[in-house]
Amino acid sequence: MPTLLDVKGLKAGYGPTHVLHGLDFQVEEGGVTALLGANGAGKTTTLRAICGMVRTEGEISFRGDRLHGRATEDIVRRGIAHVPDGRGTFMELTVEENFKLGAYVRNDNQVQADFDRMCAWFPRLKQRWKQQAGTLSGGEQQMLAIARALLLRPKLLLLDEPSFGLAPLIVQEIFGIMRRIRDESGVGILLVEQNANLALELADLAYLLETGTIVMSGRAAEIRQDEAIRRSYLGY
Ligand code: ATP
Repeated sequence: MPTLLDVKGLKAGYGPTHVLHGLDFQVEEGGVTALLGANGAGKTTTLRAICGMVRTEGEISFRGDRLHGRATEDIVRRGIAHVPDGRGTFMELTVEENFKLGAYVRNDNQVQADFDRMCAWFPRLKQRWKQQAGTLSGGEQQMLAIARALLLRPKLLLLDEPSFGLAPLIVQEIFGIMRRIRDESGVGILLVEQNANLALELADLAYLLETGTIVMSGRAAEIRQDEAIRRSYLGY
């Protein structure tokens, strides 16, 4: 598959603190790349670096264009949607209003069709259409955040720990929806996850981050089958 996002030698940090020490990784077009690693490894910082939200060095190439030094709005306009940890829905607004905000910048005539598609992917959101986002369950808020990001019609979706703090059954449901998104929309996904087992089931490529350095990478299917790698790097 052609490369959608190509990252080379990515360094990033906050003030004098260096957090990422030169990462190389890719997301393929329409594919899922999992970025695994323990707390504090630098996963969230990697997503922020792609969005232009932290100081970076190195090359970030998206569909052949360099992103380095561009403003976040420009990066979003080029087709990258970010669902941050903590989700970032508008709590006071209803599901419907959050959808409308998600599509606010669009001026094409496919918005209603996309609303219908989101309601098919996320039937729970359709059931709660007039409900305030702040009153939704954690899982439903996560779904709303993903749906809203998809309404930007991105080519690449950056997802920061979509399973965080959710019950196992809801996590399964969200991973099922991500699989559908991948299969039916062709959107590439860069997925940050602590749940390596689930992430490797979904992903095409996987990278393991330890203190800002990639210590293991490969095709997710091969990593899953390699018991020694799983045991020594992923702890299961
Ligand atoms: P987690 O799963 O806990 O979010 P992570 O792998 O996403 O972990 P990051 O959030 O990227 O890790 O954090 C990497 C390092 O950067 C940590 O040592 C953290 O303390 C530091 N860090 C994160 N955000 C900031 C910030 N705004 N200012 C200073 N240091 C930060």
